[in-house]
Amino acid sequence: MLIVMHHSATDEQVQAVTNAVEIMGLTAEPIPGSLRTAIGVLGNQGYVDDTTIRELPGVREVIHVSKPYKLVSRDFHPDSSIVEAAGVKFGDGQPPVIIAGPCSVESEVQMLSAARLVKENGAQMLRGGAFKPRTGPHSFQGLGVEGLKYLRQAGDAEGLPVITEVMRIEQIETICRYADVLQVGARNMQNFDLLKEVGKSGHPILLKRGLSATIEEFLSAAEYILSEGNPRVILCERGIRTFEKATRNTLDLSVVPLIREMSHLPIVVDPSHATGKRSLVGPMAKAAIVVGAHGIMIEVHPNPDQALCDGAQSLNGEDFSKLVAELARLQNFLVSV
Ligand code: PEP
Ligand code: MN
Repeated sequence: MLIVMHHSATDEQVQAVTNAVEIMGLTAEPIPGSLRTAIGVLGNQGYVDDTTIRELPGVREVIHVSKPYKLVSRDFHPDSSIVEAAGVKFGDGQPPVIIAGPCSVESEVQMLSAARLVKENGAQMLRGGAFKPRTGPHSFQGLGVEGLKYLRQAGDAEGLPVITEVMRIEQIETICRYADVLQVGARNMQNFDLLKEVGKSGHPILLKRGLSATIEEFLSAAEYILSEGNPRVILCERGIRTFEKATRNTLDLSVVPLIREMSHLPIVVDPSHATGKRSLVGPMAKAAIVVGAHGIMIEVHPNPDQALCDGAQSLNGEDFSKLVAELARLQNFLVSV
């Protein structure tokens, strides 16, 4: 960390900042310049909370040299991580993982038929929300624990590991009994208490990017999970909110190669929530693979027109089957170039 003083800062102010740094157990190294003095801060193992320093008289700005996300950063962990969840591997050198299934678990029959359909067409993991974060309270809120049972049953029937969303700390223990991967949704990306607790659970976590989260906020959220000793985190880009209304969100595909540069964690893309529009899901899924996503998450429903949630962005069996075939051809091409 570097503390830059105002050019008018007095020697006493520089001294006061130096003292404050030393009270924090760190070393302050004043660097006098022709216009102003800067103070280098040494000895920190990770990100330093600068709130007290920033407020001291004479301080112009505080520049963080080490990142607030240390454990997820490549600076501290140069090799790419492979995250394994119930035998499915996400990461460099692995074929992209296809996670598919309905937005919500609606019934036993719906889930069994969705599982069959996605398995038949080559998905490696089954999704389905039992606790749903809906924008309005009058929309279908999910079947809760009953939904978890149907999801597990359907996954077991087809030999597919299952992923489902956790919204509250109190749900973690139960969901861990039914699901192989816990999903932290976009709306909870900065629910820091939830992040800490899923970190303690030790279960693999798929962490979705928040609705308006910057990359730094996204990686810092992942840092919470890793800080609790859980390294099995898969990041998920699912579109961010912009001024554009023609799509549900704006898919920020540049984060895929960018995050691959910045972090060792795998990253997958959810083109369903990113676009909100069935016809755009296939093209953006393919684009995601081209830019290096380690997997994609696709909403698939046996009968999208009757879906209780997100039907407009859900593929039916036939469309999903075509997409998976196209993705396989694309993947073959990509490994050959
Ligand atoms: C979901 O995947 O079911 C979901 C609600 O997604 P998001 O958190 O990205 O909106
Ligand atoms: Mn959905």
